[in-house]
Amino acid sequence: MRRAKSDHFPLAGTRHRPRSRRGAPIRDAAGVANVLRELPPYRFLLLAELEDFAAFRRSVGVSRARLVIEDVMARLLRALPMMRATPSGQKALELSFECDSSAAGVAIAEQVRAAMADPFDLDGETFRLSLRIGGVGAPTPDADDLRLVEGAEQALVDAREIRSDVVRDLANPSAGDDPIQLMRELPDAIASGQIFLQYQPKVRVRQQRVVGAEALVRWRHPVRGLILPGMFIEAAERSDTIGPLTLWIIERAIADQRVLAARGHDIPVFINISGILLSDAGFVRDACALVTAGGAKIGFEITETAVIRDPESAIANLRIFADIGVPLSIDDYGAGLSSLAYLKRLPASELKIDKLFVTQLTSSNRDPLIVRSTIDLAHALDMEVTAEGVETPAALALLGVMGCDMVQGFLISRPIEFPAFLTFLSEDRHVAAMAGPRFSFRRNEGQWKAG
Ligand code: C2E
Ligand code: CA
Ligand code: CA
Repeated sequence: MRRAKSDHFPLAGTRHRPRSRRGAPIRDAAGVANVLRELPPYRFLLLAELEDFAAFRRSVGVSRARLVIEDVMARLLRALPMMRATPSGQKALELSFECDSSAAGVAIAEQVRAAMADPFDLDGETFRLSLRIGGVGAPTPDADDLRLVEGAEQALVDAREIRSDVVRDLANPSAGDDPIQLMRELPDAIASGQIFLQYQPKVRVRQQRVVGAEALVRWRHPVRGLILPGMFIEAAERSDTIGPLTLWIIERAIADQRVLAARGHDIPVFINISGILLSDAGFVRDACALVTAGGAKIGFEITETAVIRDPESAIANLRIFADIGVPLSIDDYGAGLSSLAYLKRLPASELKIDKLFVTQLTSSNRDPLIVRSTIDLAHALDMEVTAEGVETPAALALLGVMGCDMVQGFLISRPIEFPAFLTFLSEDRHVAAMAGPRFSFRRNEGQWKAG
């Protein structure tokens, strides 16, 4: 006989329980201990660590820094009294709690983050502290401690890597991995503010000035954490979502560029445009309308392979963009099937050398040759060259010697959110990032003269 939902469940697989009688083991009518029946459906474990703890300790001293985790814990427990918290070393906390659903757990993780918003007072001095959170939740019957601990540790490793909190549902690990599911969720994600842009500066090598920024899209998924574009752009391209997504990105970038300009940083913001959109007349019309009405400096990055696929319509549409004053940049040059014939026909002002060649620049024999000849080729075609993926001072120095006009990469800055990008610009942070053995390929003229 099939059991009705309200009947007794077998032990494993029990999910829902009344909220009023949490935790207490009880005996059912048959006198069998059924601990799980009385537990709330979900258990969560979050590992939360203080960001930039080393810098904080340097500024307040070792003994004060040692105590701060207790202050953080006290604040979190005041804000979220149903949580249990245990310090784990000087800079981390283990936070565990039960709740009714996976989404409720993710919302509590958000509240942990929100509780850190106000500064902390340490002996009369105020400090802002933030936590990086990696966590997992699972339905209570499956949520044994080891699974939670191992899952949360992995989530924290991932969170550090992508510099954004990661909270996962172990019962639904592929919720964010399934491209079809993601595409279903994307329209709502745009509407509800889960999609956002990060900016990565582009610096002119000679003058050491920030001369532009690339907008890179990200998705803060409520279950999966931060999703990078590699996970969803292709799926968006296969569905009808890439057009609306890109139009949203253009609008967002226009608004942000206007703020940049108002703050005295009137640099163009470049947006990545998927190749398939170049032969979509509706998209081209809408994009032109947005850019024309936007009153902001917006450029487009396009990959050359897209042009090769349907050259006539792509080139015609690129001309339309160029004619309304949108600077065009050829992205990922060298990664695909590069064709000089098309390169010459594109109304582009910039060529971006793919990071594949740049990251290996100082460790490979072949790549410096490719980079060097690409720079010369671009200059011969009246284009400027940006090298992306500049990660080391040595690569920066070599690119400078080769005559590369602009650089972009982790050495100068990772992609960062808009408020952080504003701070980056106003504090000229690129200068310190570019300092170092930058001139090692140049002669030290002062020394020659003195000698
Ligand atoms: P892309 O256009 O080649 O963007 C540069 C990628 O290189 C970015 O990855 C960036 O985070 C990464 N990167 C920057 N500096 C360095 C570095 O020094 N070293 C290394 N190893 N990587 C570096 P991201 O953000 O994951 O974007 C991946 C790709 O997704 C982009 O490649 C672009 O093709 C696509 N994409 C990003 N945003 C959008 C968008 O809004 N629309 C479309 N259609 N595609 C986008
Ligand atoms: Ca790009
Ligand atoms: Ca690229």
